[in-house]
Amino acid sequence: MDAGKKINKKLPSLLEKLTILDNPQVSYLILLFCASFCKIVWYIRTVPSTFITDTCQKFDDLVLKTFEGIIACGLSSQSIKQIQLSTKFGGAGLRSSKDHAPAAYISSFFSSKTLAQSFLRSPIINPHLDSCSASLNSKMLVEDFTEPSSEVSQQKDLSHKIDKSNSFQLSSECNVMDKARILCCSAPHASAWIRALPTSSNKFSNLEWVLAMKRWLGIPIYNKEHMCAACHKQIMDIYGHHAAVCPVSGDRIKRHNALRDCFYDFCTNAAWAPVKEKPFLMPFSSERPADIFIPNFTAGKGLVVDFACTCPIQQKYVRSSSQTLTFACNKYAQEVKYDCFQSRIISEGHLYLPIVFESFGGISGDAFDFIKKLFQSISMRLSEPKSIVAKSFYENISCILMRSLARSMISRFPEFSFV
Ligand SMILES: [Zn+2]
Repeated sequence: MDAGKKINKKLPSLLEKLTILDNPQVSYLILLFCASFCKIVWYIRTVPSTFITDTCQKFDDLVLKTFEGIIACGLSSQSIKQIQLSTKFGGAGLRSSKDHAPAAYISSFFSSKTLAQSFLRSPIINPHLDSCSASLNSKMLVEDFTEPSSEVSQQKDLSHKIDKSNSFQLSSECNVMDKARILCCSAPHASAWIRALPTSSNKFSNLEWVLAMKRWLGIPIYNKEHMCAACHKQIMDIYGHHAAVCPVSGDRIKRHNALRDCFYDFCTNAAWAPVKEKPFLMPFSSERPADIFIPNFTAGKGLVVDFACTCPIQQKYVRSSSQTLTFACNKYAQEVKYDCFQSRIISEGHLYLPIVFESFGGISGDAFDFIKKLFQSISMRLSEPKSIVAKSFYENISCILMRSLARSMISRFPEFSFV
């Protein structure tokens, strides 16, 4: 049909150029924001989904082919399903137009029905509504089945339910490690790096971005398991997860320090007079749990902020991480941080807050009150909306984390020397 010709005629040459841009981060962002779902959304909102299925399929195939060109490797069906999820569900946001077409048409119809009827001065009977509704329900969980009406037909609500169903379906097909990985990718703010514009602090090198995306999607990074080129003691898995926990080369310290420095800069912007690595907090001990110390944080007490990063895919966490969101970072915060330091720091008259990151970006729950207070202070001091401060913060911290992990993988390539 005409719509199909129009969509799929000019787009291939545009998308092909994205794959030769020699900057995968920029290519992907152009694809995500300017050259994928938004290119077809008008058609799927105005043409009944049953008439446009083949066009949508071709369009989706083209978008996926472009993504393959950007990361320069083929995709498994499992990776494709993850890529097509929204970033809130741990995907890459390249939504399938075929999956979402019934939702788009139904929501569009009901949002314009009243106005159209007022022009026509007669009720509109839409013969396509039943088939589109059946198609929509076939893409949702039974609990979300809906009779289309103007009250429940916001496209974003319907699309959220489709993503929820697709996410559930994908999870049911995965082994425990992939299930844990995808759940971890859906943690609040974990995916901020994916949508971040490549400003100076959020810019990835080509290799860093491709490795970060492959790790996110569970695409093998190495040909086969091998002895880790850095520690020479443990096996490097083909997905590179060992790089997150490998104890040598100082990578974990660099990652920790980079996360700490990001927080330090934001605390400085809030004029909280933060102090890095404050010594002598605990008498008769050389331990320095205060990665950042904030004097007079509240009620005359200083706050000791202690950062850490852990991998939710490692053996001891993977099963629980596949079932409970942010299990690993919260477990680590309790067992390794609170249990060890809290009572001793409180007895010195300070407050204690561990902030633990998972290697896919999840953040321990207790951190959020602190982070919200930080946004409030910066917003007030710099006269910036809190939403802008929050966006900047989450993107910055997420890019630092993902870039750091990509670098750890790069430095463990057995075949190459990066001198
Ligand atoms: Zn190692």
